[in-house]
Amino acid sequence: MNNNTIVKVLIVIIMILSTIIFWKDKSISSFKNIIDVVSHRVEEKEVIRKGITYEKVIAITFDDGPHPRFTPKVLDVLRENNAKATFFVLGKHAEWYSKTLLQVKEEGHEIGNHSYSHVDIKKSSEEVIKSEIEKTQDIIFKITGESPRLFRPPFGFYSEKLLNVLKESEYRIILWTETQDSLDWNHPGVDNIVMKILSNAQNGDIILLHDYAEGECEAIEALEIILPELKKRGFSFVTVSELLELDTQGD
Ligand SMILES: [Zn+2]
Repeated sequence: MNNNTIVKVLIVIIMILSTIIFWKDKSISSFKNIIDVVSHRVEEKEVIRKGITYEKVIAITFDDGPHPRFTPKVLDVLRENNAKATFFVLGKHAEWYSKTLLQVKEEGHEIGNHSYSHVDIKKSSEEVIKSEIEKTQDIIFKITGESPRLFRPPFGFYSEKLLNVLKESEYRIILWTETQDSLDWNHPGVDNIVMKILSNAQNGDIILLHDYAEGECEAIEALEIILPELKKRGFSFVTVSELLELDTQGD
């Protein structure tokens, strides 16, 4: 094909794509929007924010640990409520606090990768992203004997580069349900964390909390209220992998 033909083919493809998108969503009015929507849809397929909705299950997740001061207390509350959760750990914290990480694993919770140093994916090269993920994976494997299969990008940022890095791997990219971002790292107060989570709780939610944040860890006290209440409402607590497993069974 010469260049002219290629351009013509491209134009036809774009026209077909535009027609489909206009047909599906009449509110789209510019070419830029079309491109945004296409790329948004591609990315949305790659990241997980919620699980199945036909069963009363919820996945509770904790970011930025482990930390010897807070994580064991989180584990206590989980154990008292017979709840399994997922911990997205930083490689550097896992390295510093390996005993705490091992305790997380021994109590039956899932461990996910949250990068080594809480790197900003949007500003990082593929090489940096790759090394942040692999370094953390090696540390987790050395301590627990298991490689994580879930990656949660710091700040919930993701990019084409991240998708490229993870393309050949078994990693799934896990974010959180939009209504279940507790913002606990910002110390909104235990009552606000509890209210936000309980008033929004729905089947298949992925709740975001932190077992490490600068200052106090409000998630511990909040969990003491949230878990018994959700249990009373009939929810059970699963790891993210268990939630995804239910998803495939439902297909
Ligand atoms: Zn984080």
